[in-house]
Amino acid sequence: GNTNLNAKLVLLGDMGAGKSSLVLRFVKGQFLEFQESTIGAAFFSQTVAVSDATVKFEIWDTAGQERYHSLAPMYYRGAAAAIIVYDITRTESLERAKKWVLELQKQGNPNMVTALAGNKCDLEEKRQVATEEARAYAEENGLLFLETSAKTAINVNDIFHEIAKRLPRA
Ligand code: GDP
Ligand code: MG
Repeated sequence: GNTNLNAKLVLLGDMGAGKSSLVLRFVKGQFLEFQESTIGAAFFSQTVAVSDATVKFEIWDTAGQERYHSLAPMYYRGAAAAIIVYDITRTESLERAKKWVLELQKQGNPNMVTALAGNKCDLEEKRQVATEEARAYAEENGLLFLETSAKTAINVNDIFHEIAKRLPRA
C-alpha cells in the first residue's frame, strides 16, 4: 500500500552556500541571482512521491550566520531529515558543514536522514572542494552525498527524492 508521511526537514550550512536557493528551486522551480539572505528561518512545504510513499516535507530554511546559531536546535530538534549545504567554491563552507554534522551527531535525532549537498556545482572553474574529498567524508559519516546546483537544477529534486526513499516508514 501507499504510505503518507510528513517529514520535518532542516537546511543547515554556511551563509551564502545556497540553502534558500535550493529550497526555492525545489519548491517553486525558480532561481534568483541575488537571493536575499535569510533572517532567522523560513518555512516551506513540498510533497514528493516515491515508489511506496508520498512524503510531505515541512522544510525549515535556516540562516547561516553565527549570530543565529543558538536558534538552530529549534529547527533540527524533531527533524526527520537534514540537508547540510556547502559551496564547492569555498573550502571554509565545507569546514562549517562538518561542524554542523558534528552538532547533529551529538544533539540531533539519531535516526535522522542526513544529506551533504555540495552546491554551486555549475561553477566548476571556481571549484575549491574536490568531489572525491567530500564523498569520502560523507561516506565515513553515513551521509547521503550529492553535488547540486540551484542555478541549473542539477540534483536538486534528486536529493529530496533520495531522502524521501530513506525515511523510516511509519
Ligand atoms: P544561503 O545563505 O545559504 O541561503 O544562500 P542563498 O540561497 O541566499 O545563495 C547565496 C548566493 O549564491 C545567491 O546570490 C545565489 O544566487 C547564489 N547561488 C545559490 N545557489 C547557487 C548555485 O547553485 N549556483 C550559482 N552559480 N549560484 C548560486
Ligand atoms: Mg538563506
